[in-house]
Amino acid sequence: MTHPAPIAFDNSYARLGQGFFAPQPPTPVGAPRLIAANAALARRLGIDPGWLAGPEGAAMAAGNALPPGAQPIAQAYAGHQFGGLSPQLGDGRAVLLGEVVAPDGARFDIQLKGSGPTPFSRRGDGRAWLGPVMREYLVSEFMAAAGVPTTRALAAALTGEQVLRETALPGAVLTRVAASHIRVGTFEFFAIRGDTERLRLLADHVIARHYPDADGPLALLEGVVARQAATIARWMALGFIHGVMNTDNMAVSGETIDYGPCAFMDAYHPDTVFSSIDRGGRYAWAEQPRVAVWNLAQLASCLLPLMGDEQQAVADATRVVHGFPALYQGEWLARFGQKLGLAATPADKPLIDRLLDLMAAQGADFTRVFRGLVRGEAAAEFAEPAPFLDWLREWQARGPDLAVAAAANPARIPRSHRIQQAIDAGVGGDFAPFHRLIDALSAPFDDRPEWADLALPPAEEERVRVTYCG
Ligand code: AMP
Ligand code: MG
Ligand code: MG
Repeated sequence: MTHPAPIAFDNSYARLGQGFFAPQPPTPVGAPRLIAANAALARRLGIDPGWLAGPEGAAMAAGNALPPGAQPIAQAYAGHQFGGLSPQLGDGRAVLLGEVVAPDGARFDIQLKGSGPTPFSRRGDGRAWLGPVMREYLVSEFMAAAGVPTTRALAAALTGEQVLRETALPGAVLTRVAASHIRVGTFEFFAIRGDTERLRLLADHVIARHYPDADGPLALLEGVVARQAATIARWMALGFIHGVMNTDNMAVSGETIDYGPCAFMDAYHPDTVFSSIDRGGRYAWAEQPRVAVWNLAQLASCLLPLMGDEQQAVADATRVVHGFPALYQGEWLARFGQKLGLAATPADKPLIDRLLDLMAAQGADFTRVFRGLVRGEAAAEFAEPAPFLDWLREWQARGPDLAVAAAANPARIPRSHRIQQAIDAGVGGDFAPFHRLIDALSAPFDDRPEWADLALPPAEEERVRVTYCG
């Protein structure tokens, strides 16, 4: 009997042909060692978790061996970074191994991030250090558990080699899973080159893969706008700040991608920014829906050449992009309505806004206030509880459904100081805190007493104020 291949690859993006990517195997490393293997995600993909956690899985996850059917490529893309166009970015430190078709027929990219240089590396080394790999693993798995469309983490491996940043740090590779890694910037790559033929191939590919009901580029745009509105409303409802919402970091599938300098707010304030490179606050928490519109307008202009009569195309695309705010408001109201256990009619918006204003005025902890509402403990999050108690009476008078609120307000989020502590331990060779966080963040609505410490805000000396792209 022949052995079935460990991963059921079918590489449709690679079949798009020349111009979309550069063939690029991962660069083998000295001493691969798995630090995490995601058994539940492996099963979802039809991969044997035992295989993934064994020597062959480790060799794949470090880039030292290609499973049968893999066809490693570095994908080409462009992007607007902080508003400025970079005509050529591309996978500079990642390779797409291929697409796995899961037992239910769903298709997922399997990508290695930190797997060595590619033709798109420019001055970079093609590598990742352990810290950002651990951060992405933790945050993306939390996001998935919290119901946010996102790329996921299948595995993380140490390379046994050092990466030079400000100091020498342990190198690592993340095995990332996504509906696809096609970005707004992928469309920009072909649009700015006037390559309408490949633009059309790309649009058809994305429609077939992500928007099978769309009958053309305008409907594709409509689909991306709607999914991004839903995704970003979910970020907002968790206090998540992406940190680097460049067009190359916006997936057309609607999934959250590129967990670089991202962070969750502890104390609530709408202007919160963590990223060291975001000096103007372009990607602050409250700016994210506006940035999404900006990015989607870039996608819209890329699609115009595929939309026939130019004047009509501009009018249609503009209407679709201008539809974002209404879609987003609907999603926002639904998410924050659930957080308060309310049906969320537009009449509830002033009540939600007043709570957020009270939280901002006192710097109350975003996650703890909302979870505290469920547990009757929210007042303790306010230094001056009187105005909150007035609000609370009004909220209670609406008869909130606490079971709905409990399912929408996580007990724990990936707090930056906890991630930092896990990374510090990992750099020292101790991955127990990392695994504890993986478990606790994969069940974020579960009030287990043994995880109570992970729900606490940082002490003053633990507070992380700045995050880095890694
Ligand atoms: P990001 O800011 O993570 O979206 O990355 C922007 C671009 O820089 C992408 O094209 C990445 O592939 C590339 N890049 C980031 N870090 C490295 C690195 N260490 N080596 C090579 N390319 C990199
Ligand atoms: Mg990126
Ligand atoms: Mg990045």
